[in-house]
Amino acid sequence: MQNKSLIYWVFQNIGQFLCPKNPFSLIFIGIKVEVYKENIMPDKMLKFVNVGMQMPTKRTSGARTKDFKEIYDAFIHEKAKEQSSRCSQCGVPFCQVHCPLHNNIPDWLKLTAEDRLQEAHEIVHSTNNMPEICGSICPQDRLCEGNCVIERAGHGTVTIGSVEKYITDTAWEKGWIKPIKVLKEIDQSVGIIGAGPAGLACAEELRKLGYKIAIYDRYDRPGGLLIYGIPNFKLEKFTVERRTNLLKESGIKFKQDFEVGKNISLDELRKKHDAILIATGVYKPREINLPGSDLKNIFPAMEFLTASNRKGLGDRVENFDNGILNAENKDIIIIGGGDTGMDCVRTAVRQGAKSVKCLYRRDKENMPGSAREVHNAEEEGVEFIWLSNPKKFIGTLQISSVLLERMKLGEADSSGRKKPESVPNSEFEMKADMAINALGFDPEDLPKLFNSPELSISKWGTIKINLKTMETNLSGVFAAGDIVRGASLVVWAIRDGRDATVSIRKYLEQKLNKSEKAA
Ligand code: FAD
Ligand code: SF4
Ligand code: SF4
Repeated sequence: MQNKSLIYWVFQNIGQFLCPKNPFSLIFIGIKVEVYKENIMPDKMLKFVNVGMQMPTKRTSGARTKDFKEIYDAFIHEKAKEQSSRCSQCGVPFCQVHCPLHNNIPDWLKLTAEDRLQEAHEIVHSTNNMPEICGSICPQDRLCEGNCVIERAGHGTVTIGSVEKYITDTAWEKGWIKPIKVLKEIDQSVGIIGAGPAGLACAEELRKLGYKIAIYDRYDRPGGLLIYGIPNFKLEKFTVERRTNLLKESGIKFKQDFEVGKNISLDELRKKHDAILIATGVYKPREINLPGSDLKNIFPAMEFLTASNRKGLGDRVENFDNGILNAENKDIIIIGGGDTGMDCVRTAVRQGAKSVKCLYRRDKENMPGSAREVHNAEEEGVEFIWLSNPKKFIGTLQISSVLLERMKLGEADSSGRKKPESVPNSEFEMKADMAINALGFDPEDLPKLFNSPELSISKWGTIKINLKTMETNLSGVFAAGDIVRGASLVVWAIRDGRDATVSIRKYLEQKLNKSEKAA
């Protein structure tokens, strides 16, 4: 093997000295790949033909609906190694192309298969600020894993997310993840509005560069939707707290219970800092304007989920403790088939609901939520009423049932999705003690909220940015995450936060140069 490794090493190094446009270089790369595959890889990798795909053990639905703990057990070391070895080390890794962070997936899979976990962790962390969180909650079936070539070839995907989580959990356990040590602090500061994944990722990257960072958040805990939106059974809260504590230990200042627009205006904040990042997410629930919408016991999804998450964190939540926001022993109807809807139905099951039904206007194939999450919900006893649409909430003071109509799918609209249409005379009633609106979120009116009418927004209310620099129309004010994209994903928020860092740094360097020249 040593001779073979040497041959590979020689080819690798010769290849590096050749210009990529030189045809000889391509020949060398081709030979290199062949020598590599033939001589080194078979020992550790390309095992997908003999080794089947295996996710970490999923707890039985009976066991997992009794608590709010994560539904998958962690990989044991041998399993993570074995599953990593299934990767075929593609020349063009589609998994990486379809990961919003372009994680170096084949590299860390190979290192895991070779037992080189510390190196794997370094690579994982070089592109992602929260790999264990992404490994748990990215909709991998739509991103990296859904595009894995061996999945496409029918062998079952490499379990990329679980390995990413395994590597990072190991790194925490072994103490490889340490607070940032700033050797020379730069005398410039950045104010970040919002302690969700976009704000946290940007804060961490800027702190690594030496800037002074203050994060302002209107909640009492940092983490944004990671802490109060996403339920524990998908993401245990200690993982979020572990990350935010690390940032505190890195010298980043957190100002909680502090709402920009209420405690300070955007203009005042701009005077305190050299640059600003707006990463406030989107929180305004899309309204259901139906007869009976004003009846009691109809709640927006975030109110229901926040109460449940707060309980899990040990808080006193009056509306939960008095039973109002608690699904126990109730017939629950959830309206909406996205990921938020899935979180609500599964939370209601765990709170001990009598029945949980999810209404969706289209069919299962056209559902926006992750197929994996829908499957988990079905296993846990949730009933999906496909092709149904609420027409009216019925009740005297509080809701007692919902009037629904059947839908059918018509022609595809401009987005390519088939349009739901009402089926005439198809109305039917369904009992409900509580209804939850999970139809999605829109941005709040930020120019008004921030007392900054000049801040430019799109027709959807998201903040307009220069796509290259991520700067808003206000000089030195940048924006990232859901408030720019609309409701999206954690991994995209992290990507935005990291991209914003590059532009903010450039802006701050130019600002410093200007002031040095002027002095
Ligand atoms: P947020 O996480 O929303 O953070 C924004 C922060 O800004 C909050 O802490 C808020 O308090 C603060 N803030 C807002 N306004 C102000 C103000 N005026 N002053 C001070 N602070 C302010 N994504 C996935 O990838 N996987 C999932 O499984 C998943 N599940 C989800 C489940 C639910 C129920 C929801 C609602 C979303 C889910 N998402 C999921 C989406 C994901 O959580 C978001 O895309 C992501 O959190 C956006 O990050 P962000 O930093 O832009 O905003
Ligand atoms: Fe896959 Fe998300 Fe990890 Fe990227 S960050 S590799 S999409 S799990
Ligand atoms: Fe490995 Fe699949 Fe990525 Fe190819 S696409 S490098 S097989 S994980």
